[in-house]
Amino acid sequence: ATELAGLDRRFLVHPHQRMDRNDRVVIVRGEGATVWDAAGNELVDATGGGNWLSQVGHGRRELAEAAAEQISTLEYYTGFFDYSNDKAIELAYRLNQLSPEGIDRVFLTSGGSDSVESAIKSARLYHNRRGEPNRTWILARHFGYHGASYGSGTATGFEMMQTYVGPNLPNVEKLSPVWPYHHEMYGGGDVTDALIAELEGAIERIGAGNIAAMIGEPVMAGGGVHEPPADYWPRVREVLSRNGILLIADEVVTGFGRTGSWFDSATRGMKPDMITIAKGLTSGYIPMGGLLMSDAIAEVVTSNEGFFHGYTYAGHPVAAAVALANLDIIEKEGLIGRSLTVGDWFKSSLAPARDLPQVGDVRVIGATVGIELVVSKQTKEPMMIPIVAEGVADAVRREHNVIVRPYGNVIVMSPPLVIGEDQVRRTAEATIEVLSRLGA
Ligand code: PMP
Repeated sequence: ATELAGLDRRFLVHPHQRMDRNDRVVIVRGEGATVWDAAGNELVDATGGGNWLSQVGHGRRELAEAAAEQISTLEYYTGFFDYSNDKAIELAYRLNQLSPEGIDRVFLTSGGSDSVESAIKSARLYHNRRGEPNRTWILARHFGYHGASYGSGTATGFEMMQTYVGPNLPNVEKLSPVWPYHHEMYGGGDVTDALIAELEGAIERIGAGNIAAMIGEPVMAGGGVHEPPADYWPRVREVLSRNGILLIADEVVTGFGRTGSWFDSATRGMKPDMITIAKGLTSGYIPMGGLLMSDAIAEVVTSNEGFFHGYTYAGHPVAAAVALANLDIIEKEGLIGRSLTVGDWFKSSLAPARDLPQVGDVRVIGATVGIELVVSKQTKEPMMIPIVAEGVADAVRREHNVIVRPYGNVIVMSPPLVIGEDQVRRTAEATIEVLSRLGA
């Protein structure tokens, strides 16, 4: 185990590399919501592979077999030009059946960032082809996460991802995060009223005729697991429609049961024009993403004038076969409903956390949890010293063999939807035990 960690340090460049944290845990095996590290420790994976996925759990033979079967039949053929493949077509049809009304077609990609990148390009292309080439601006939110490529990375509201690597994509406007818990920061009135006024102000300032689209997560995930007020999305949709601006729902996290529905946007009156997906589409067994779109946009994108954009692995038959088998499992095992059950287990087992002095809020949305650490419950001032949440996650793992993930001042849980009730309770108890020592 020590040797592997040494080789890792010497040869592997990690995403979100942090020079001060070099004692990585090397994960070697998984089953359900359990993973094992190279030192032989058995850990509860309360994070879904560390990245909000693994809907069907680790170690599923069905998915290994679907991949093996497809690799031995046809491992790859391009979807470019005059070609297609049966598995990509089958997946497109299946996604059409599952997706919200008005969303009919899919452009397949290799992951979430690619899907967001494709959404930004498609939005601009759509307006351009319809005679409005000035519509190039993208509206997004601080603390929204949309990816790491230049387009998706600029739309992402974490400034540290844009520092030192500029110039970034021009014409991207960031608005306030949707954080109802911190409602004082919107001026003390109604949260939605304040957010809508800000949105209308931005449209006025930039000019509706210059704006292509707004992108948003139905529920801000990486920004701390925040559920918007019920009237938020319907009102955003109305403002955007009135101004000819497209709406892109980034469902890379929320899709496929994470928050308790196939598509979270369908439950919030969002009525998006495009939806980006990845993660839960394949439960992470193989990289794949997609951009779902309305017929109106698809017609422009697929017009005879062409759309010169696409990825080698778009519609990869092995990825599509795994996605289909993954969707089968989610359906057969009722994992969408189970996501809500997992949420109920978290709600009851985390109830004592609410009384801890440093816990400002416990948010549970399906199988997704955010525990927000604050300096004081009264001021709600975020306990932003990152070392606190990171230290909590470290201690939870080291002392209890449970993996949770820190995001700024929020401890996040997003386990496989197949996680057992005992594992949820263990996760909650371990986290509460460590949190109860904070400030002691
Ligand atoms: N959108 C959201 C909401 C995400 O959380 C992520 C990844 N965490 C992405 C997009 C980017 O996906 P990927 O890392 O697969 O490129």
